[in-house]
Amino acid sequence: MEIKERLYSAFEIIQPEKIKKIEYEGPFLCIYTDEISYITGESGIIPKLAKALKKKVIIRPVPEIRIEKEKAIEIMKKIIPENAGVDYNEIYFDERKGEVHLYAGEPAFVRGRGDSTLWELISAIRWRVIIHRKPAIESNIIKTVDLLERNNAESKNEFLSYVGMRINREKIKDIENIRITALGAANEVGRSSFLVSTDQGDILLDAGLKPGPKLMHEEYPALHFIEDLDRIECIVLTHAHFDHCAALPYLFKYGYRGPVYMTEATKYLMTLIISDYLNVRQKSGLPLPYSYADLTSLLAHTVVLDYGEVADIAPDAKLTLYNAGHILGSAIAHLHFGEGYYNLVYTGDFKYDFRERNRLLDPAFNNFKRNDTIIMEGTYGGNEDIMPSRAEAVNSLIGIIKNTLENNGKVLMPMLAVGRAQEILLVLYDAFENGQLPKVPVFVEGMIHETSAIHTKFVDELSLEVRRKLLEGNPFTSRYFELIKDTSVREEILEAGPCIIIATSGMLTGGPILEYFRLLAEDEKNSLIFTSYQSQGTLGRKVRDGEKEVVVPTEKGEAIVKVNMKIFSAEGFSGHSDRNQLMEYIRRLPNRPRNILLVHGEPTKLTALQQAIRNELHIATYIPDIGETMRFR
Ligand SMILES: [Zn+2]
Repeated sequence: MEIKERLYSAFEIIQPEKIKKIEYEGPFLCIYTDEISYITGESGIIPKLAKALKKKVIIRPVPEIRIEKEKAIEIMKKIIPENAGVDYNEIYFDERKGEVHLYAGEPAFVRGRGDSTLWELISAIRWRVIIHRKPAIESNIIKTVDLLERNNAESKNEFLSYVGMRINREKIKDIENIRITALGAANEVGRSSFLVSTDQGDILLDAGLKPGPKLMHEEYPALHFIEDLDRIECIVLTHAHFDHCAALPYLFKYGYRGPVYMTEATKYLMTLIISDYLNVRQKSGLPLPYSYADLTSLLAHTVVLDYGEVADIAPDAKLTLYNAGHILGSAIAHLHFGEGYYNLVYTGDFKYDFRERNRLLDPAFNNFKRNDTIIMEGTYGGNEDIMPSRAEAVNSLIGIIKNTLENNGKVLMPMLAVGRAQEILLVLYDAFENGQLPKVPVFVEGMIHETSAIHTKFVDELSLEVRRKLLEGNPFTSRYFELIKDTSVREEILEAGPCIIIATSGMLTGGPILEYFRLLAEDEKNSLIFTSYQSQGTLGRKVRDGEKEVVVPTEKGEAIVKVNMKIFSAEGFSGHSDRNQLMEYIRRLPNRPRNILLVHGEPTKLTALQQAIRNELHIATYIPDIGETMRFR
């Protein structure tokens, strides 16, 4: 049924004379009205309309009924309680959309009990109210991205209405089959990218770079398999890790101008990761594969989706993102083609720790009503890849740290800036609080402070256990952690006594960790603890595999470093599912998929996992190669 017909059927829900204007806004439908009860949502009309129209509906006030801005601010000050912590200097009115953006320390107090305060507010000011949580830590990235977004609001609106028109164009014909081509992360970890094609057009899932290799054809996804950039309806980004997002600006450099769907947290984290990558390269005098302007262009084409929100992305395709439990903002993408014709689930990277409640994030979603084919990661799919429980991992980590400190050594922890760092900060915080560790200084350097700040903006997406902890105090801003902004203090740190140093990057591929590693590696009293996956070809992998002499890049060139320090891997903190969790994830799906495509893993691991799935669950399981296309239906 066309949208117009559906709207007629919706006239039982909404009175036609109250509709002043209808327009598409990307995947969503916008209705402008002068009926205030529609805008507050008090009448329950929004979910009813969404159901009737099979689309998310946004209801906006027409300009005529909106209260003048200064007056509106006065009213807000009266209605919103002080404990909401609204910053009235930061209020922003989007006149085109009839939206007012509020930044609150405690958004719940702006909404009030059962949204009553919010309804009262909207009825009084007659603007749609968007409430943002103010991060508990200042963040440059959040500020930069938000400012950019405000300054480009006009062109973003035009872009969204163009996208809306394109999505809602007449379809040429019914979909006859679905083709999936692996452009990266095929029999390897890194450069994740998959092309999903129908007769209608293409959808690109992720576009990352591979950390480690120097050769471009090994570092970039096999983008030459994309016949025509204009055939790409949209790109879906599952999460902000380098190996999933870092090739996106490259596509904009070569002319892609369509939407890129992701969660809001991913938008900020992605900007951080990519701009850091450009900064590091620039500082090292390396050529930039794309410019900062290409990153800005990517941001201008970003369309944010909430978990569970169904979005039309093409005439015959819908996308829904679900929590992947991997890092903040990470998503599993569910694609629905035709009216029930085909359902594809792409897990991206995911953690399915269904027994654990102490983690930063809830376990990955898997309650899919329909799933014909699953593209699943198998990073830890090997027969021996059974990880300790989180509690065991915490105990052994604390044991290693304690031993090292007692022997007058320093602990060095290379850290992925996103996800693992915050998990480890929580663990250390608890260990200091309950006396399991002596209170030594913890020096934190690199992007970790920014990512912590972004976590404090999205606390509602963290697990219940962690949110409870955050109520007692903020571990991320705790006095135990000393933030290093000035590199000149590094020498003092290294000359001082036992301490813990946490720095990026996680695989020793760049960042401040390299300098610390070079200076600490030769002393056998020190320890290095990995808490994340080490890709083949990276320095981290070489060190983890026991190489005793390695080449470390320095500002001036290279240094040969003897590795005498003790090397540990604390795998239990991984954001990836281990073998048991991967199997359990499939076992617990409400419906068995017809096919599974295993990706994002080394060949031996994927083959082992394939065997296990075939033997136990009897599901057709494939391991695609780079450039290989699989056709379904
Ligand atoms: Zn990842």
